[in-house]
Amino acid sequence: MTVEVISRDVWGARRPNGDKNLSGAAAGVFVHHSVTTHLPEDATVEQECAEMRKLESIGYSRFGAFGQGISYNLVVFPSGRAYEGVSMHRRGAHTDGRNSVVRSICFAGNYQATEPSAAAVETAAQLLAHGKLAGWWTGLILGGHRDIKATSCPGNRVYLLPLEAMNARARALLGGAAPVGNPVVPAPSTATRSSYRVSGEYVQRGDYGPGVGDAQRELARLGFYQGELDDAAGPQTETAIRALQLAAGIARDGVWGDESRAAAAGVPDYPGVTVLGTRHTGRTEPYQQRLADRGWRITVDDWHGGGTDKVLKAFQAEKGLTVDGDGGPQTWTALYTRPL
Ligand SMILES: [Zn+2]
Repeated sequence: MTVEVISRDVWGARRPNGDKNLSGAAAGVFVHHSVTTHLPEDATVEQECAEMRKLESIGYSRFGAFGQGISYNLVVFPSGRAYEGVSMHRRGAHTDGRNSVVRSICFAGNYQATEPSAAAVETAAQLLAHGKLAGWWTGLILGGHRDIKATSCPGNRVYLLPLEAMNARARALLGGAAPVGNPVVPAPSTATRSSYRVSGEYVQRGDYGPGVGDAQRELARLGFYQGELDDAAGPQTETAIRALQLAAGIARDGVWGDESRAAAAGVPDYPGVTVLGTRHTGRTEPYQQRLADRGWRITVDDWHGGGTDKVLKAFQAEKGLTVDGDGGPQTWTALYTRPL
């Protein structure tokens, strides 16, 4: 059994390699999909490296403030080639609340309606088996991202069938002849970065301090907060927290804690408001693209016409949001936090 993992320096990683060192074996693996370009099975290494750099940019734009670059530990393409994301002994940002105790394998592409290739499934199984022998993890696949978060990740076609098939194949590989693994995985980085205070910190009205500023910046990034970034949680901060919670469909307690923080962290920067009759603003397209990725029939042309209005209203109604057909902070966050 030989499985090659193309290392970070080959694909050209430029951003931080996770935010802290991890020691010991993980409990197992969660599986994700990237919902980025779905390359064909005959894609070139150059194309895949470019996709890895794109994934790194996405991870950095979402979690860079927490010292993160690419989010996932291993990325598998339809070609069957595997790439090193965040190193196995560094903490990534993939499986909300479990980033220190599990690792991640991400299928590059969108698997909501597309089957993973046989080559990719085989590679994932080989990685699972190898990782167990190498002491990366003690179990195999523990679940798909959706098992622990309101997300469609890793896509129906990865989730519904192959998860157990991959585990079965990995067990078969482990039960077979003495394996000879030879992955190209560099030693863990010794670079240290200050890690973000992820757990046990709560911000609510009346609080004062840098933790409040962090919450305000995050809420401003998503369009919920327009007030001063003054490290003081007043009524405006509380209103913004509740608005985020409503959009994300989580408990509306007005307290910025792990749940709110995790919901916000998965949402890209708010592109701005889009209303019926706006053209070529560069704002409508991100909504249309996300709706299309979620399976809605919509034309991605950056034109907010009647068709887009109808789909936005249908989405808003389905999620119990204000039905106005406009794209605003509430709709934007819901598009990234609500289950399909
Ligand atoms: Zn995921």
